[in-house]
Amino acid sequence: MSLPDTCRRLTASLMLVGAFSSLAADAALAEGRPAKELFGGMALPAKAAPSPYGSYAKGCIAGAVAIPTDGPTWQAMRLSRNRRWGHPEMIALLERFSKDAVRLGWGSGILIGDISQPRGGPMLSGHASHQIGLDADIWFTPKPANPLSPQQREDMPFTSMLVPDKFLTVDKRLWTNTHARLVVQAASYPQVERIFVNPAIKKKLCDTWTGDRAVLGKIRPIYGHDAHFHIRMRCPEGASGCKPQAAVPPGDGCDKSLAWWFTKEPWAAPKKDPDAKPAPKPRAMQISDLPKACAMVLDARGPASEFEVTYRASGGIMPGNSAASAFVAPAPAQQTGFEIPAVVPVPAPRPAGW
Ligand SMILES: [Zn+2]
Repeated sequence: MSLPDTCRRLTASLMLVGAFSSLAADAALAEGRPAKELFGGMALPAKAAPSPYGSYAKGCIAGAVAIPTDGPTWQAMRLSRNRRWGHPEMIALLERFSKDAVRLGWGSGILIGDISQPRGGPMLSGHASHQIGLDADIWFTPKPANPLSPQQREDMPFTSMLVPDKFLTVDKRLWTNTHARLVVQAASYPQVERIFVNPAIKKKLCDTWTGDRAVLGKIRPIYGHDAHFHIRMRCPEGASGCKPQAAVPPGDGCDKSLAWWFTKEPWAAPKKDPDAKPAPKPRAMQISDLPKACAMVLDARGPASEFEVTYRASGGIMPGNSAASAFVAPAPAQQTGFEIPAVVPVPAPRPAGW
């Protein structure tokens, strides 16, 4: 489907709920504010049919839903960030994964880190991707049996699986077979296209995994990702505005592409040419850099409250269904203005197939 078609479809969809305001869209464009400020300031999603637009690192989403802060087998972390939003298929997958995690012996469930902002888009801190509601971070720490308080969810430190100060070495005292099974389980769903982990963790899996190795190829090494791993879904069926990534190369990935991470190259500081002119400051991503539909997503009216667009746990029952379970989100998290540390360093060069 061409872009104008996509826009027409989105516009029609938004107008159905009486939500589109071209005046507001023009205002946002005219201001020239970086897209991360505009998307980072949205408290609620665009009320429309669920549609991701663009790519994982340059896009947005209409019709995102929130995962409840607490479910029977999960808890959402860092609530002040308001990044519990995703495509309904992403949220349903997380619910299913959380149940599978318990079956594997992963405590009483999973701790969920960032998914996306209510309308996706670039963020003021942290990630380059997570922009279209199809990426989610899962802690390498199981959910404790007792619910963590909102403050504990802000303060609880990440636990790296690596030995401090030792180059790319998994800590044997922390890493267990259950960690390995958890990551492979996440990779095993057909709708999951990639899992990102630290290269040391990928190597550990390559060296020790004795089960079916076909799924290992989806598990990709990348900077960071030593205290959490990252689930990336493929574009959902029929999501014509979603720009797919290249398929992962065949094989288990325990090859040259992994060996590269254990060379100096990925960790070397960029070479400086003493005669080169100072590079211009990189320009922040603008709305005009994103798919056209994203200006409309930004300006579409939202729901009356978060409650209206919170995923109902158990059985994948979607918003609006009266058979909702007892697990519903409390009032929207207060924006506290915390300093949020960058979780994922900005990667330098990448090997093919990232
Ligand atoms: Zn991530």
